[in-house]
Amino acid sequence: AKPIHIIGGGLAGSEAAWQAAQAGVPVILHEMRPVRGTEAHRTDGLAELVCSNSFRSDDAETNAVGVLHAEMRLAGSLIMRAGDANQVPAGGALAVDRDGFSDAVTKAIEDHPLITIAREEVTGLPPEGWDQAIIATGPLTAPALAEAIAAQTDEKALAFFDAIAPIVHFDTIDLDICWFQSRYDKVGPGGTGKDYINCPMDKAQYEAFIQALIQGEKTEFKEWEGTPYFDGCLPIEVMAERGPETLRHGPMKPMGLTNAHKPDEKPYAVVQLRQDNALGTLYNMVGFQTKLKYGEQARIFRMIPGLENAEFARLGGLHRNTYINSPALLDPTLQLKSRPGLRFAGQITGCEGYVESAAIGLLAGRFAAAERLGQPVLPPPPTTAFGALLGHITGGHILSEDEPGKRSFQPMNVNYGLFPPVEVDKPEGKRLRGKEKSVARKRALSARALTDCRQWLGGGFSAAAE
Ligand code: FAD
Repeated sequence: AKPIHIIGGGLAGSEAAWQAAQAGVPVILHEMRPVRGTEAHRTDGLAELVCSNSFRSDDAETNAVGVLHAEMRLAGSLIMRAGDANQVPAGGALAVDRDGFSDAVTKAIEDHPLITIAREEVTGLPPEGWDQAIIATGPLTAPALAEAIAAQTDEKALAFFDAIAPIVHFDTIDLDICWFQSRYDKVGPGGTGKDYINCPMDKAQYEAFIQALIQGEKTEFKEWEGTPYFDGCLPIEVMAERGPETLRHGPMKPMGLTNAHKPDEKPYAVVQLRQDNALGTLYNMVGFQTKLKYGEQARIFRMIPGLENAEFARLGGLHRNTYINSPALLDPTLQLKSRPGLRFAGQITGCEGYVESAAIGLLAGRFAAAERLGQPVLPPPPTTAFGALLGHITGGHILSEDEPGKRSFQPMNVNYGLFPPVEVDKPEGKRLRGKEKSVARKRALSARALTDCRQWLGGGFSAAAE
């Protein structure tokens, strides 16, 4: 068969290449690193994680991203296989050693007999000869290609601010002040209930810290003025500006944590750090993405008790995120309506997150391979996490309240709000309420998703491909 061309060897492109090749179709994967870099990537490995090392919750019963993990494993995902093989402890989350993970993906792709890697920048839309192609160039798509996409789609590329958090060297954290504990002592896969490092603050320290954040000098991004922030990734100083309590109810909440050095003193606020590499030599500051200037970050973050002498392996920063207006531009199989055979995958389609980007890559790879093999292209049912996420992107079934053309399209993580509702059973006629009802609902949505995903992967649900 003729090859499928995949542009971008990130989370989405690597998974798409793997899926297509596993289906028996040859792939040429075009990755521009190391010929050309991006603002965030630091290596030339495939599927490099540019910020956090977490794939978030691995709970497939009551967490939507956990369900997506499970579905991807069922579909033979390379990203999940490499993630599972390179886990580091992180409470209920699946976090990975970023180098080990990227190395595992790179090796699997390099070793696959049907995949060829071309280390080159693609500077325009795929040429006519590439009749099957997938653009998976991510939020930092190189400018020449981004311009070509904007011209072809006749849409202004949308953009928003996104931010990354600092990473601290473990041996510079003062463990006479900080302590190891997961919130509510939660024990996750491979975890111990002591997976986070906690830095306590009293009221005066917290208030001084908030003031410093507000007054600290920020990097200016004049050319991006007016660009909105993605709400799930607000810079820490922007949260501080929203009110003195915002951080204490957000990333600095003290709940479920007891200071091991002073068990009788309830901390007023807590900064948490999570292990960032397998060796345990690096820890990232959870929720501390920032656009403070580098010098200011070092000064202000050293006000945190236990981090007085912290050395930073990487400071936080802000970047732009580019994505297309997928609900208007793509069909339900991720194909550009104005150019059949050209698909998009990953964050550029308007999903958010490593796992979601890889999941959309998985679908794009399967769709393109099915088409190449002359098989029907069957999207996953909307009741699955795959289908729920795809529905968000391609403007499918779930957006009953807004007309797809009219809503403002924002990148989003997978969440239960994207799944069609389910009736929750009432055991022995008992009415479920509050938390109990919400957990029962999540369990029911998750169980239905996994059942339907198995059936879809087994070739069922042809009738559902409306
Ligand atoms: P990428 O993984 O970025 O892959 C795109 C690839 O395409 C890159 O390898 C790039 O080199 C290549 N490329 C680009 N243009 C070209 C071209 N013209 N020709 C050839 N190759 C090209 N998500 C999270 O879940 N957690 C986080 O903490 C997180 N932090 C982020 C921080 C930053 C700075 C950024 C930019 C994003 C962050 N994201 C995070 C969001 C997102 O999940 C990741 O960006 C994810 O890697 C997206 O996957 P992708 O495959 O779409 O893009």
